[in-house]
Amino acid sequence: MEAAIHLNAMGHSTDPVCWMQTGFASGFATTFAGQPIITREVECAGRGDAACVLHAKPKPEWDQLDDLELAATPLVLSETWHDAGQTVIGISAAFLSAKTMIERTAASNATLLLMGETGVGKEVLAKLAHRLSTREAEPFIALNCAAIPEGLIESELFGVAKGAYTGAVAARPGRFELANGGTLFLDEISTLSPLAQSKILRAVQEGEFERVGDTRTIKVDVRLIAASNVELNEAVREGTFRADLFYRISTLPVRVPPLRQRREDIPVLLEHFRLRYALRHGRTVSGFTPRAINALLAYDFPGNVRELERMVERAVLLADDGRAIDVRHLFLETDGLELKPAMCMTNDGRISAVDNVGSRANLVRQMLDLIVDEGGSLLEMEGLVIREALDASGGNVARAARTLGFTRRQLALRLEKMEIQESA
Ligand SMILES: [Zn+2]
Repeated sequence: MEAAIHLNAMGHSTDPVCWMQTGFASGFATTFAGQPIITREVECAGRGDAACVLHAKPKPEWDQLDDLELAATPLVLSETWHDAGQTVIGISAAFLSAKTMIERTAASNATLLLMGETGVGKEVLAKLAHRLSTREAEPFIALNCAAIPEGLIESELFGVAKGAYTGAVAARPGRFELANGGTLFLDEISTLSPLAQSKILRAVQEGEFERVGDTRTIKVDVRLIAASNVELNEAVREGTFRADLFYRISTLPVRVPPLRQRREDIPVLLEHFRLRYALRHGRTVSGFTPRAINALLAYDFPGNVRELERMVERAVLLADDGRAIDVRHLFLETDGLELKPAMCMTNDGRISAVDNVGSRANLVRQMLDLIVDEGGSLLEMEGLVIREALDASGGNVARAARTLGFTRRQLALRLEKMEIQESA
C-alpha cells in the first residue's frame, strides 16, 4: 500500500520507499526479540521491483548501517525504561507542550504552577523540573497540603521551636528549611489557610520566615513548584486564595490535561506500567489483548494516570503467567462500566476517534464514501451485503433474510436475480 501511494503521488523512485512498513517491522521484531532488530527493504515495488521484500537481522549482524538506520534503531523498552520512576511518559501534543514548557524554564528560578486534575502526574513533572534544574544535586521536598490538618500545616511548612505548643518537645525544621538550595513542591496549594498563604508569600518573595513559636528569622533559597487541582483564579475570585500569592506563583503556569483528553498517551503508559510492574512483581505478562486495549482507550479514567497505573499493576498480578492482560483483569466490576467505542485502534496502529453518539451512522457514512469513491454500483453493493449475510447465516436463507429485514421470499427473489445477472 505504501509503495502504491508513492507510485501514485511521486512516480517511480530510485530507492525503496516503504519507510513506515520497514519501521513498523523493526519495532515489532525488536519488541519480540528483546534486542534491536533492524529491517531493510531490499526490493521495493515503489522502484519497479515485483514486490517489496524486507530483510531483518539483529543490529550487530548488519555489516553496514546508514545514518538513517542508525538513527532509527528501535529502543528495547525493557532496557531503556529501567529507571521507570524517573521517566516522564507521554507522546500526545497536550502532554509534550506541558513537558516542553517545563524543560524550557528548568534553568530559571521562577515559581512553576502546575494545574490539572488529581492523578495527572503533577509530581512527576515537578520532579522532572527539579532534575533538569541547576538544583539537581540539592533536595527535592514534596508536601501535599491537603493531607496535613490545618492546625499543623504551618509547623510542617516552616518548622517549629521547642515548646511552641503542647507536643513540640524538640525543635524541628519545616519543609522550606529541608528544601534549602533545592526545590519545594507544594501540591493542592489552594487548601492552605490564609495565614499559611501569607507566610508562603513572604518565604517566596523574601526567602525568609520564622519557625512556629520562634522569633529568629531563617533565610532559605528555595525554588517553589506549586500545584493545584482547582482553578486558582476562581479561588481568588471567591476570596479563598490570596490574589498576591496567586500572581506571585503563576509566572509560569503549566496546564496538565486529564488523560481522557490525551488518549494517545494511554498505550505508552500501559506499556510503561506493564514493564515496571512485571519487573517489580517478577511476572511475565506478554502484553494486552486487542479487546483490553480498546476497552482502555474507551475508558474515561476519572482518576487519570494514577488510576491507569493501579489497574495495570492489578492486572499484571491477576493475568496468567506468559499470557496477555485481558479486560477481566483490568475492570473488576464491569457492571457499572460503559465501554463505549470512543476510540479505536486502526490496523496501522493509529488511534482514531469514533463519535460516540453516532458511531454506527459514522461507520456507515465512511463505508458509503469509500464505495462512492471506488465507483461501486448499488446492485453490486446489494449483492455483497446479501452474500455477507448468507455467509454469516451459514447459507440459511430465512435467517439471512431476517438479518437484512427482508422476508424469505423477497430475499429468494433477489438471489434469483443475482444468479441471472451472474450467468448473463
Ligand atoms: Zn516497498
